[in-house]
Amino acid sequence: MRVTFLGTGTSTGVPVIGCDCDVCKSDDPKNRRGRVSVMLTWDDNNVVIDTGPDFREQMLRHDVKHIEAVLYTHSHADHLHGLDDLRMFCFRRGGPIPAYADPATFERIRRVFDYTFQTKTEGGGTAKLELEQMNGSFELLGRTIVPMIVMHGSLPVTAFRVGDFAYCTDCNGVPDETMQALEGVDVLVLDALREKPHSTHFSIDEAVAVARKIGARQTYFVHMTHDVDHATVNDALPDGVELAYDGLQIDV
Ligand SMILES: [Zn+2]
Ligand SMILES: [Zn+2]
Ligand SMILES: [Zn+2]
Repeated sequence: MRVTFLGTGTSTGVPVIGCDCDVCKSDDPKNRRGRVSVMLTWDDNNVVIDTGPDFREQMLRHDVKHIEAVLYTHSHADHLHGLDDLRMFCFRRGGPIPAYADPATFERIRRVFDYTFQTKTEGGGTAKLELEQMNGSFELLGRTIVPMIVMHGSLPVTAFRVGDFAYCTDCNGVPDETMQALEGVDVLVLDALREKPHSTHFSIDEAVAVARKIGARQTYFVHMTHDVDHATVNDALPDGVELAYDGLQIDV
């Protein structure tokens, strides 16, 4: 399975609008971070985790021609609000795209994007989702998707395990049950916002400690703010832990 890091930035994206800090003004392309998302590819199937506000640019950058399914982690705008740009993929496949969400995210999508679930729309049409509520592990395109809960402040967020790969964005707590479900994972993606602590995201130090505890062979951090200069912070990370960056592709 190939993992493409579509975006690795926090909710504002990096650079931040109007900011003149060194990271925002940096020439290093690794300091340009779209809103966080990954694409998983196997057997010519493309599955995206979340559709944030940079989804359209991310699809163009990687010349993605089709999407077979969408997995949603939670309903925050930086993970959801590119949903409308699924429409080209719906038009091309001539039908709705299967999408999976926990009950709270399911409700929010049905409410915020109510027009996409109406049968009749006048004019250009809308994205169409075949939206399902997740209830435990499920089979998708020949693989088993294991949803797990991580805590994002008081909000439960869905993390996903697919084989030896796990994706845990937007969290500052990993419940014991999820720790067990992560056992033996080879490649882990984990939220690491910035050096300074935060009430709903792991800081870099906290994320390093959790990554050690989970013990994946390789851990990649995502959801970084403009406080994180890629080269400086990445160099200081221990072996087996590194910052992801937009466009990074790995095979797992
Ligand atoms: Zn987020
Ligand atoms: Zn900045
Ligand atoms: Zn969030």
